[in-house]
Amino acid sequence: VAKNKELYAARRFNNNMGTSATLSLDQATPTQLRQWERELTQRYQDYKKARYQLDLTRGKPNPEQLDLSTALDGILQGQFHDTAGADLRNYGGLDGIPAAKQLFADIIGVHADEILVGGNSSLSMMYTTAQFCMHYSMNGAIDGDHSAWSSSGQPVKFLAPVPGYDRHFNLCRLLGIELIPIPLNNHGPALDQAEALVKQDPMIKGIWCVPRFSNPTGIVYSDDTVARLAELPRHAGPQFKIFWDNAYAVHAFSDNAPQVANMMDACRQCGTEDAIYLFGSTSKMTYPGAGVAYMGCSKANLACYKKRLGCTSIGPDKLNQQRHVLLFKDKAGIHAHMRQHAAIIRPRFDAVLNCLDQHLKDAGMGTWTRPEGGYFISFNTLPGLAKQVVTLTTEAGIKLTPAGAPFPYGKDPEDSTIRLAPTFPSVSDVKQAMEVFVVCIQLASVRQRLANLTGSCSPSK
Ligand code: PMP
Repeated sequence: VAKNKELYAARRFNNNMGTSATLSLDQATPTQLRQWERELTQRYQDYKKARYQLDLTRGKPNPEQLDLSTALDGILQGQFHDTAGADLRNYGGLDGIPAAKQLFADIIGVHADEILVGGNSSLSMMYTTAQFCMHYSMNGAIDGDHSAWSSSGQPVKFLAPVPGYDRHFNLCRLLGIELIPIPLNNHGPALDQAEALVKQDPMIKGIWCVPRFSNPTGIVYSDDTVARLAELPRHAGPQFKIFWDNAYAVHAFSDNAPQVANMMDACRQCGTEDAIYLFGSTSKMTYPGAGVAYMGCSKANLACYKKRLGCTSIGPDKLNQQRHVLLFKDKAGIHAHMRQHAAIIRPRFDAVLNCLDQHLKDAGMGTWTRPEGGYFISFNTLPGLAKQVVTLTTEAGIKLTPAGAPFPYGKDPEDSTIRLAPTFPSVSDVKQAMEVFVVCIQLASVRQRLANLTGSCSPSK
């Protein structure tokens, strides 16, 4: 009787497969699990035969988003001079054109004399900044002195809130900076841990922060986090710097999305304004690779940075800055433009979340974030399954960011974080990719459960 009951439950469960998971992993009996595994394996094989070629790897705008900035083409119409009369076609203007400085200072939350508007990549600016700090003096002299991070000869370290942005971590590795992971919680980095670490080790010289719609979890730093982070340099050794990469500062899905408090103001309040560099770019407002990047910092830091930058460049592409000023006009223009991006992106995020809710809610197979902006959703599998899921999806033709990428040295200690980047494919492709992803999650979870129950690695055989 018991066996029949179990089989009946499994059949009922199975009939509902494909629409929703009515049983959670925890409730399923071994018989149900085995039947479930057979069914999922069949569906997975069918997906493999379909030979999909879908890609949820990198956060790229889709062509419809790129079309929003088509007016950049030809917008100059001979307007080659800035408001002060400088000829933008010529050398000069190391820190950017005045109108661009005003425009992006408003976005990044600094004064117009605390910003440098440069070339096409904020990541390059972060690299240059870190390299300058690493090797040269902090007092503006071009020659190195005892204040450079590397001057003591001891290894330089950075705090890396995880999961985080893989390119930040690669940048540090390139410069020989050791990364110390600390948890990134729902309201920001784990600051008890950050404070304790910087107090005990003066060679920790910085921390990475993506304060609004973080890459990859999409969380937004709370006001308390901002206030406490502004204090962090006071607990740290000399020349500690906060790298505040506000890449998604204006990338909200709605006007009600949470805001981030002004970090420069918070630093000014506790006298740490020389310990902060703020970054951003128009890569995901206009064109990635053909946009404009900017960096905010104290006037003292800016003077020092410009002295060194002047050794490597005579000036940025000011004509592209002018194009962006003409396109956006002001802060309100940027927000209006970003609302159009949101209208295109939101359905893709909805497609991901609807699929996860429909098939995995209460299934006990993982959790996921629900960002209100940005480019990513983070999915947490059961411990030990992220790599396996990524392998399964890849073999079924769905490319995902490699498991482990959001962690220093590619090592996710729980092997559970998967970054989903749904902006580039069409909505129907996102839906299709997610159907496959869900089956891979279910299959890996059921197999793990069976293996735990039976101690066998191939439970279906
Ligand atoms: N920072 C973060 C957090 C990002 O997600 C990205 C793009 N993926 C960048 C920086 C790169 O910015 P840019 O194109 O200005 O170099």
